[in-house]
Amino acid sequence: MDTTEALVFSPHPDDAEMGCGGTIASLSHAGHSVALCYITRGEMGTRGDVETRAAETREALQILGVLHHVYADIPDAGVTNTQENRLKIVAILRTFRPRIVLTPHHESLHPDHVQASLLIRDAIYLSGLMKIETGQERYRPESVFYYPLRPEFTPSLVVDITGHFGSKMNAIRAYRSQFYDPATPNAPETLLSVPDFLDRLAAIARYYGALIGVTYGEGYGVDFPLALPSPTSLLGLSCRMR
Ligand SMILES: [Zn+2]
Repeated sequence: MDTTEALVFSPHPDDAEMGCGGTIASLSHAGHSVALCYITRGEMGTRGDVETRAAETREALQILGVLHHVYADIPDAGVTNTQENRLKIVAILRTFRPRIVLTPHHESLHPDHVQASLLIRDAIYLSGLMKIETGQERYRPESVFYYPLRPEFTPSLVVDITGHFGSKMNAIRAYRSQFYDPATPNAPETLLSVPDFLDRLAAIARYYGALIGVTYGEGYGVDFPLALPSPTSLLGLSCRMR
């Protein structure tokens, strides 16, 4: 496998696309290798089934320029931060050996999002321990960035995704089983299936963009202060007065 620069964890098919699809598209279209790991297959979703959602995932990832994706096959609506599940994630981390990880922030209504965030954080630590045996060399990525899955989130950093906002929204639209479709007005309602849901996602991207003075952005949280390799790195940063 090619060297993977970014590994993105998504509790369900469509979470990563909504939370950080613009960053994924931006990285992959610039020639950086990005891989996706879906923690569940979304089999407990109110709308759609596993096969439909897998086909939608392939379409979304093609739009985002992602060549590799895997499933951790942890049960949907049953994600837990157990040692068994941590070892599954450790094996995936040691396979891809990414420089950075993008993973959901733990502040979310859905228990799978909360548990997935804690699970990935703990697995990243364990992956660096030599005596955690998976038959692979130990490995710990350089950085972990948490993408939000709810709007009321104060980011530690914002990425300008203006040039890739269209790809992000097209990738999200690929999950058509999840969203409002006038052709199937009697499909069961969910939080995602209200008619203006995609407009709300666009508004969130506009909001994060406004925080840094660009049109569209994606926000991230971090566990620790960002490290700059030298004081001159400050010259390449933007922290706008607003
Ligand atoms: Zn989800």
